[in-house]
Amino acid sequence: MRVEKPEALRKPLIIPHKTLMGAGPSNCTPRILHALSQPVLGHLHTETTKIMDEVKAGIQYIFQTRNELTLAVSASGHGGMETVMCNLLEPGEKVLVATNGIWGERASNMAERYGSVPVKVTTEPGNNFSLAQLEMALMKHKPVMLFIVQGESSTGVYQPLEGLGDLCHRFNCLLAVDTVASLGGVPVLADEWGIDAIYTGTQKVLGAPPGITPISFSDRAKQKIFNRKTEIQVFYWDMKILGDYWACFGNPRVYHHTISTTLLYGLREALAMVAEEGIQSVIERHENCARLLREGLEKLGLQLYVSDASKRLPTITTVKVPHGVQWKDVTNYAMNRFLVEIAGGLGPTANKVFRIGLMGYNASPEKVEYVLRVMQESVEMAKKMKP
Ligand code: PMP
Repeated sequence: MRVEKPEALRKPLIIPHKTLMGAGPSNCTPRILHALSQPVLGHLHTETTKIMDEVKAGIQYIFQTRNELTLAVSASGHGGMETVMCNLLEPGEKVLVATNGIWGERASNMAERYGSVPVKVTTEPGNNFSLAQLEMALMKHKPVMLFIVQGESSTGVYQPLEGLGDLCHRFNCLLAVDTVASLGGVPVLADEWGIDAIYTGTQKVLGAPPGITPISFSDRAKQKIFNRKTEIQVFYWDMKILGDYWACFGNPRVYHHTISTTLLYGLREALAMVAEEGIQSVIERHENCARLLREGLEKLGLQLYVSDASKRLPTITTVKVPHGVQWKDVTNYAMNRFLVEIAGGLGPTANKVFRIGLMGYNASPEKVEYVLRVMQESVEMAKKMKP
């Protein structure tokens, strides 16, 4: 044997208890952590498939959809994006990507890898899209799909979606929406708004670990998947097979991959907790906490990045880095002194903002008060540090 036993693996695993108030993940609740420690079962055991059915119903509830083709893919949020692009786009087809932050950029990158042709409609970071602007772009490009992000976590911008499905369908175009950072913080009405493909993250408002991603496709999207001229390029994302594993087409279940039952338990409990509280109350709690946070930040003399209050995302608040302060000094101090995670900017907001997440377990007035104290002390200390 030429490779020695790693010395580092002889030490015990020690994980600190941090308060995760960045752009995600958020902290898991004790109930979810307990669920994660339950025994692993087989991917086709009756107990597992029963939990899959419960998870499917829970996902239909949080998306407010009756879509048959509703399940969770075994991957983090990026897997939701991959699944949408891989199933709904064929080589050479045009996809219109609404781009006002990093997620639009990433979606275009993925779409291109599947051989489709992304065209962008853009607005400046910190702003969102009007229906009129999207209509113009649909008219100009005639894409087969519009991809849009409801909660741009890189800028803290909220994108309203009312009326967008009807608009897209008038142009014979599918509507795909990323709700990874927004679901549970703002309303999501997939059926009412005519959304054809939707996915979210587990590690934000739902407060479960990342690695399993709720996703749902409308009948219109399903038609497209079943009438493709070309094969779905990636086996792992193939909704025709995955849909059978999740019993979405009325056929007997077939093995597609070995699902992590552990992650399934966590997601099941997260969905149960949302159902117990009621999705509307969850949204109101997040809106209320975001309002308290914004008021508190402004009292501290800090400025919000998104100037128009109606365009601010409740789940992730972007705060301008004050002059004379290095953002890293602030986030490092918050972590070292309080074990609190505050995120820096990403993509267009890199070096410009802090991103404070109030999601799931952390969306409480007590946590708002706590993070405001942490921000106050961390910014004060950073001001005293020499650049
Ligand atoms: N979309 C949005 C809006 C996100 O905020 C994120 C994660 N921050 C993702 C997609 C990707 O999710 P993940 O990191 O879980 O792959």
